[in-house]
Amino acid sequence: MIINCPVCNGKGTAKSTTKTENIPHFGEILESSLICTSCGFKHNDIICLEQNDPVKYTLAINKDNLSSRVVKSQSATVSIPELGVKVEPGPKSLGYVSNIEGVIIRFCDGVKQALTIFDDEESQKNGLDILEKLNKLVNGEIKATLVIEDPYGQSNIMDTNVQKEKITEEKLKDLKTGFTIFEDKPH
Ligand SMILES: [Zn+2]
Repeated sequence: MIINCPVCNGKGTAKSTTKTENIPHFGEILESSLICTSCGFKHNDIICLEQNDPVKYTLAINKDNLSSRVVKSQSATVSIPELGVKVEPGPKSLGYVSNIEGVIIRFCDGVKQALTIFDDEESQKNGLDILEKLNKLVNGEIKATLVIEDPYGQSNIMDTNVQKEKITEEKLKDLKTGFTIFEDKPH
Protein backbone atom coordinates (compact mmCIF):
# COMPACT_ATOMS: atom_id res chain seq x y z
CA MET A 1 0.00 0.00 0.00
CA ILE A 2 1.37 3.44 -0.96
CA ILE A 3 0.74 6.13 1.64
CA ASN A 4 1.94 9.59 2.64
CA CYS A 5 5.04 9.46 4.83
CA PRO A 6 4.22 10.10 8.52
CA VAL A 7 7.70 11.60 9.04
CA CYS A 8 8.45 13.87 6.08
CA ASN A 9 4.84 14.18 4.83
CA GLY A 10 5.97 13.12 1.36
CA LYS A 11 2.97 12.53 -0.87
CA GLY A 12 2.78 8.83 -1.65
CA THR A 13 6.46 8.30 -0.92
CA ALA A 14 5.99 5.61 1.72
CA LYS A 15 5.26 1.98 1.04
CA SER A 16 3.55 -0.08 3.67
CA THR A 17 3.50 -3.86 3.57
CA THR A 18 1.94 -6.44 5.82
CA LYS A 19 2.41 -10.17 5.73
CA THR A 20 1.73 -13.08 7.98
CA GLU A 21 4.39 -15.66 8.45
CA ASN A 22 4.26 -19.04 10.09
CA ILE A 23 7.38 -19.75 12.09
CA PRO A 24 7.93 -23.48 12.73
CA HIS A 25 7.46 -24.55 16.39
CA PHE A 26 6.30 -21.04 17.18
CA GLY A 27 3.19 -19.98 15.34
CA GLU A 28 1.76 -17.19 13.29
CA ILE A 29 3.16 -13.69 13.32
CA LEU A 30 2.05 -10.57 11.53
CA GLU A 31 4.95 -8.59 10.14
CA SER A 32 4.43 -5.02 9.01
CA SER A 33 6.90 -2.58 7.55
CA LEU A 34 6.93 0.97 6.28
CA ILE A 35 9.65 2.42 4.07
CA CYS A 36 9.81 5.99 2.75
CA THR A 37 11.73 6.52 -0.50
CA SER A 38 12.00 10.24 0.16
CA CYS A 39 13.43 10.57 3.68
CA GLY A 40 14.53 6.99 4.23
CA PHE A 41 12.25 6.43 7.22
CA LYS A 42 11.95 2.75 8.09
CA HIS A 43 9.64 1.11 10.55
CA ASN A 44 9.26 -2.57 11.29
CA ASP A 45 6.99 -4.31 13.68
CA ILE A 46 5.74 -7.77 14.39
CA ILE A 47 2.66 -8.82 16.23
CA CYS A 48 2.34 -12.33 17.52
CA LEU A 49 -1.07 -13.78 16.87
CA GLU A 50 -0.93 -16.31 19.65
CA GLN A 51 -0.77 -15.80 23.39
CA ASN A 52 0.93 -18.30 25.65
CA ASP A 53 2.14 -18.80 29.22
CA PRO A 54 4.79 -16.48 30.66
CA VAL A 55 8.16 -17.80 29.67
CA LYS A 56 11.86 -17.13 30.15
CA TYR A 57 14.47 -18.17 27.58
CA THR A 58 18.16 -18.39 28.45
CA LEU A 59 20.95 -19.12 25.99
CA ALA A 60 24.73 -19.05 26.37
CA ILE A 61 25.90 -17.00 23.40
CA ASN A 62 28.84 -18.36 21.43
CA LYS A 63 30.20 -17.77 17.95
CA ASP A 64 28.35 -20.82 16.60
CA ASN A 65 24.85 -19.71 17.55
CA LEU A 66 24.98 -16.07 16.43
CA SER A 67 22.71 -16.90 13.52
CA SER A 68 20.02 -18.62 15.60
CA ARG A 69 16.67 -17.00 15.05
CA VAL A 70 15.14 -14.74 17.68
CA VAL A 71 11.55 -13.59 17.87
CA LYS A 72 11.08 -10.70 20.26
CA SER A 73 7.52 -9.56 20.91
CA GLN A 74 6.50 -6.06 22.01
CA SER A 75 6.08 -7.25 25.57
CA ALA A 76 9.46 -8.94 26.05
CA THR A 77 12.37 -7.88 28.23
CA VAL A 78 15.74 -8.66 26.64
CA SER A 79 18.93 -8.70 28.68
CA ILE A 80 22.55 -9.81 28.73
CA PRO A 81 23.12 -9.95 32.51
CA GLU A 82 26.94 -10.33 32.37
CA LEU A 83 27.20 -7.05 30.48
CA GLY A 84 24.56 -5.26 32.54
CA VAL A 85 22.41 -4.42 29.54
CA LYS A 86 18.65 -4.74 29.48
CA VAL A 87 15.84 -3.49 27.27
CA GLU A 88 12.45 -3.37 28.92
CA PRO A 89 9.24 -2.89 26.98
CA GLY A 90 7.78 0.59 26.86
CA PRO A 91 4.77 2.12 25.09
CA LYS A 92 6.82 2.45 21.91
CA SER A 93 8.35 -1.02 22.08
CA LEU A 94 8.46 -2.94 18.87
CA GLY A 95 8.58 -6.60 18.18
CA TYR A 96 11.08 -7.96 15.71
CA VAL A 97 12.40 -11.10 14.11
CA SER A 98 16.18 -11.24 14.04
CA ASN A 99 19.02 -13.49 15.12
CA ILE A 100 21.38 -13.47 18.13
CA GLU A 101 23.89 -11.25 16.30
CA GLY A 102 21.07 -8.85 15.37
CA VAL A 103 20.01 -8.61 19.02
CA ILE A 104 23.59 -7.75 20.07
CA ILE A 105 23.77 -5.11 17.32
CA ARG A 106 20.51 -3.60 18.60
CA PHE A 107 22.13 -3.33 22.04
CA CYS A 108 25.15 -1.62 20.41
CA ASP A 109 22.85 0.89 18.69
CA GLY A 110 21.06 1.55 21.98
CA VAL A 111 24.34 2.18 23.80
CA LYS A 112 25.58 4.47 20.98
CA GLN A 113 22.35 6.43 21.24
CA ALA A 114 22.75 6.72 25.02
CA LEU A 115 26.31 7.99 24.51
CA THR A 116 24.99 10.94 22.49
CA ILE A 117 22.47 11.81 25.22
CA PHE A 118 24.45 11.32 28.43
CA ASP A 119 27.71 13.21 28.10
CA ASP A 120 29.02 13.01 31.67
CA GLU A 121 32.34 11.26 32.17
CA GLU A 122 30.99 8.22 34.01
CA SER A 123 28.21 7.49 31.50
CA GLN A 124 30.67 7.85 28.62
CA LYS A 125 33.15 5.49 30.29
CA ASN A 126 30.48 2.90 31.09
CA GLY A 127 28.93 3.16 27.63
CA LEU A 128 32.22 2.70 25.81
CA ASP A 129 33.10 -0.20 28.10
CA ILE A 130 29.80 -1.98 27.34
CA LEU A 131 30.20 -1.26 23.62
CA GLU A 132 33.63 -2.88 23.63
CA LYS A 133 32.24 -5.97 25.39
CA LEU A 134 29.31 -6.22 22.94
CA ASN A 135 31.79 -6.13 20.05
CA LYS A 136 33.86 -8.85 21.69
CA LEU A 137 30.70 -10.91 22.17
CA VAL A 138 29.85 -10.67 18.46
CA ASN A 139 33.41 -11.76 17.64
CA GLY A 140 33.21 -14.74 20.01
CA GLU A 141 35.99 -13.37 22.22
CA ILE A 142 33.94 -13.38 25.41
CA LYS A 143 30.97 -15.37 26.68
CA ALA A 144 27.65 -14.11 27.97
CA THR A 145 24.02 -15.12 28.25
CA LEU A 146 21.02 -13.89 26.34
CA VAL A 147 17.82 -13.79 28.40
CA ILE A 148 14.39 -13.05 27.01
CA GLU A 149 11.46 -12.84 29.42
CA ASP A 150 7.99 -12.57 27.99
CA PRO A 151 4.83 -12.36 30.11
CA TYR A 152 2.74 -13.41 27.10
CA GLY A 153 5.05 -16.17 25.89
CA GLN A 154 5.17 -14.75 22.38
CA SER A 155 8.94 -14.51 22.08
CA ASN A 156 11.35 -17.27 21.25
CA ILE A 157 15.01 -18.11 20.82
CA MET A 158 15.25 -20.87 18.23
CA ASP A 159 18.30 -22.81 19.25
CA THR A 160 18.57 -26.44 20.34
CA ASN A 161 20.55 -25.43 23.45
CA VAL A 162 18.08 -22.86 24.70
CA GLN A 163 16.71 -23.26 28.21
CA LYS A 164 13.02 -22.59 28.52
CA GLU A 165 11.36 -22.09 31.89
CA LYS A 166 8.07 -20.81 33.17
CA ILE A 167 8.09 -17.45 34.90
CA THR A 168 6.71 -17.69 38.41
CA GLU A 169 3.78 -15.51 39.53
CA GLU A 170 6.11 -13.62 41.84
CA LYS A 171 8.65 -12.76 39.16
CA LEU A 172 5.86 -11.89 36.76
CA LYS A 173 4.88 -8.94 38.95
CA ASP A 174 8.32 -7.40 38.42
CA LEU A 175 8.15 -7.76 34.68
CA LYS A 176 6.99 -4.83 32.62
CA THR A 177 4.50 -5.62 29.93
CA GLY A 178 4.64 -2.34 28.06
CA PHE A 179 1.45 -2.59 26.09
CA THR A 180 -2.12 -3.71 26.23
CA ILE A 181 -2.83 -7.09 24.78
CA PHE A 182 -5.69 -7.44 22.34
CA GLU A 183 -8.82 -8.80 23.98
CA ASP A 184 -9.97 -10.76 20.97
CA LYS A 185 -7.76 -13.49 19.70
CA PRO A 186 -7.76 -13.56 15.91
CA HIS A 187 -8.76 -16.84 14.31
ZN1 LIG B 1 9.46 10.29 4.45
